[in-house]
Amino acid sequence: MGNESRNVLKPMDSEQLREYGHRLIDFIADYYKTIESFPVLSQVQPGYLHKLLPDIAPDHPETMEQVLDDVRAKILPGVTHWQSPSFFAYYPANSSVAGFLGDMMSAGLGIMGFSWITSPAATELEMIVLDWLAKLLNLPEQFLSKGNGGGVIQGSTSEAILVVLIAARNKVLRNVGQNALEKLVVYSSDQTHSAFQKTCQIVGIHPENCRVLETDASTNYALRPGLLQEAVSQDLEAGLIPFFLCATVGTTSSAAIDPLAELGKIANRNDMWFHVDAAYAGSACICPEYRHYIDGVETTDSFSMSAHKWFLTNFDCSLLWVKDQDSLTEALSTNPEYLKNKASQANLVVDFKDWQIPLGRSFRSLKLWMVLRLYGSEALKNYIRNHIKLAKDFEQLVSEDPNFEVTVKISKTL
Ligand SMILES: *Cc1c(COP(=O)(O)O)cnc(C)c1O
Repeated sequence: MGNESRNVLKPMDSEQLREYGHRLIDFIADYYKTIESFPVLSQVQPGYLHKLLPDIAPDHPETMEQVLDDVRAKILPGVTHWQSPSFFAYYPANSSVAGFLGDMMSAGLGIMGFSWITSPAATELEMIVLDWLAKLLNLPEQFLSKGNGGGVIQGSTSEAILVVLIAARNKVLRNVGQNALEKLVVYSSDQTHSAFQKTCQIVGIHPENCRVLETDASTNYALRPGLLQEAVSQDLEAGLIPFFLCATVGTTSSAAIDPLAELGKIANRNDMWFHVDAAYAGSACICPEYRHYIDGVETTDSFSMSAHKWFLTNFDCSLLWVKDQDSLTEALSTNPEYLKNKASQANLVVDFKDWQIPLGRSFRSLKLWMVLRLYGSEALKNYIRNHIKLAKDFEQLVSEDPNFEVTVKISKTL
């Protein structure tokens, strides 16, 4: 070999991976061992990193030791420690060893799973694992992959809602005519996550046609079916087209639980697409004693839950189930020459590229599969039960303190 070919980069050198990989795992394990010694919230000032790192990328290789030293000295001070046991901001992003290892396996295999043919195991494992979880949640049969329904992993709840909103828009416009977009009306409550508003902006719903229904303490901030019915009737009278309802089980600011069964009746009667966002709280419904919070899910068209919030699966892993997969593929399929293959042409397989916005997709089901296998559903249920117990203890402590007021009582909802 001449000098030139010896200098050619070998980006997936297995011996380098073995050596550096072991050191990196040790580094991360040490990080977890000492995580409580860091201030949870990063203490740096805006722009701090510019002062510490060079302005241009290196021309020549540096060592792993140099990189890890910089992570220790320059990156970690700018990290807020989301996995610290003392982190209580926003919502948890519960990682786990199993989820981490699954992500590592996915990075290691380095596949793109957009069509079945690009790695059959990626599509098939995703279908199996989403069926497993649908069964743990006791979702209706129509959400299982054996019929016309099924689950798919999206990056985030925002993407999940975007995808079903596009499918619903496509379906209604095919019925009422393509130029009716400005007549389409969506419904949600004032507790619904801002992700819904963003998706409506993207999909082109007229801002004046986004009904944000008011809630109050009398229902623990849940959406009142009577109010929805009133709004729908008014819109119909005005010649508008009610077409999408987004309900939430576990809202972000108030943990409100919208009454799915009653809302579903109204949505079904009016031919509206009914989506349920159960991003964080959905996980609790694997426990039989909390399953009743999604009673009425049989009236919905789609249901989403993020395993990366309360299900020990490292970000990103947002689960979306639909009853009618055709509504997704009709809105999102493309079939260019360079993606054609026999299995897809013969309609023998699911191609998840047609269930999402991007084309490329990683092997995300591995991490959820590893979480389910390395922990088992009983341990996951007990993990959730313990969190709820801790929340109740916390509520007790807060309610004993005259400086605070508990506005939504857990003891009332759980
Ligand atoms: C966290 C959360 C979201 C936003 O989730 P992303 O996955 O970050 O898009 C939406 N809705 C609810 C109820 C949430 O808890």
